[in-house]
Amino acid sequence: MSQGAPCPLNHLSKGELMLIRNVVVYDGRGGEPLHDAAVSIDGERIAWVGPLSDLPAAVTADPSVVDGEGRALLPGLINTHVHLSWDGRPDPTSYAAHSEAQETLIVFSGALKTLAGGVTTVRDCGARTSGVIALAEAVDTGLVPGPRVVACGSFITMTGGHGNWAGIEADGAEAVRDAVRGQAKRGARSIKLIATGGVLTPGTEPGGASYTEEELAAGVAEANRLGLPVAAHAIGTEGIKNALRAGVGSIEHGSYLDDEACELMRTRNISHSPTLSAYHTLVAGGSQDGVAPSIIRKAVGASQSNTESFRRSVAAGVNVVCGTDAGTPQNPHGGVGLEIRLMVDAGVPISTAVKFATLNSARCLGLADQIGSIEPGKIADLILVDPSFARDPVLLDFPWFVMRDGRSMLDDLPLSDAAKEMSVAK
Ligand SMILES: [Zn+2]
Repeated sequence: MSQGAPCPLNHLSKGELMLIRNVVVYDGRGGEPLHDAAVSIDGERIAWVGPLSDLPAAVTADPSVVDGEGRALLPGLINTHVHLSWDGRPDPTSYAAHSEAQETLIVFSGALKTLAGGVTTVRDCGARTSGVIALAEAVDTGLVPGPRVVACGSFITMTGGHGNWAGIEADGAEAVRDAVRGQAKRGARSIKLIATGGVLTPGTEPGGASYTEEELAAGVAEANRLGLPVAAHAIGTEGIKNALRAGVGSIEHGSYLDDEACELMRTRNISHSPTLSAYHTLVAGGSQDGVAPSIIRKAVGASQSNTESFRRSVAAGVNVVCGTDAGTPQNPHGGVGLEIRLMVDAGVPISTAVKFATLNSARCLGLADQIGSIEPGKIADLILVDPSFARDPVLLDFPWFVMRDGRSMLDDLPLSDAAKEMSVAK
């Protein structure tokens, strides 16, 4: 299989009928991959998928045909938890000194790396300024290339709570409600509430609850009334359960889940984003790169339990999703290959891990009727990758081809020629 030549799909423009043949399809629904398959795309939508031998005559009416050369075709990957306004530097509290313009440039840089890593949709789980909201709109209108972005605006946290250096402090049900309205006015498409302390915030402990159930419930009710799903940062068990009873849509981290929490999540269709990468990078890197010892201590303390919570929610049948927390210290923007590798290392089959990062993640964002699987009628968000990714998931980070909304994206990325060579060579 030649990886060196540029992908011919990169030169097709939006609106052309095209057929991608000779691919192994992982359709995002968790089943076995389909070999010797083909997918046809009509404009921005997937028109047909199946074994090449079953291709209907109507589909073959002169589409542009591209030979996938045996590569794997997946839905565009979805990362439900990133911070585009952060760039992985050791001290996250230093972002507070940035102007809105500085923050927006970091956002744009992170978005390009994300798209180049085969991720076509992200949820941004908290930024200080409106830079991410501006980027989301600019991507939607075609002004700049990037992944589709669901922006949470700023975190809403109690006074002195986790993320207060990047968020809105609000205390009491009324104030939380007002803060939700403020983020909706700003253009947020999702809301992020802080239910426990956090690894990155000095003076808070990840296991300790922060908002009361009453405060969380007020925020959830107002967000849902405005049509916005709610993500809850929740590490310790008490805060997790406060958030679950308040009716949030997803638990972010969820590092100390018990059986009751898993049962609440399963029966109320609440997603779990275990953010394995965030813990892994801190534990593996340690404080030698300038990360504060208190951050490393807290990450080491919760990491093992976080992996156990992931196994527990998978076993309970919870809608587990992919979220890397990219942007946190030593956790750069790009693909989700490491998160998928860590899921596989924890005992999940590769097709299931792909489902977590595609269809399950689309469900979490309320977008499963549009994206997240390779099925007729869905938006053509597709990536073509080395089929060996099934043994080495980190290969997902180097797609040969990235399509969003039926349009090839890699040529839109202002990467250097050397970076493009890397992208096709790996
Ligand atoms: Zn986060």
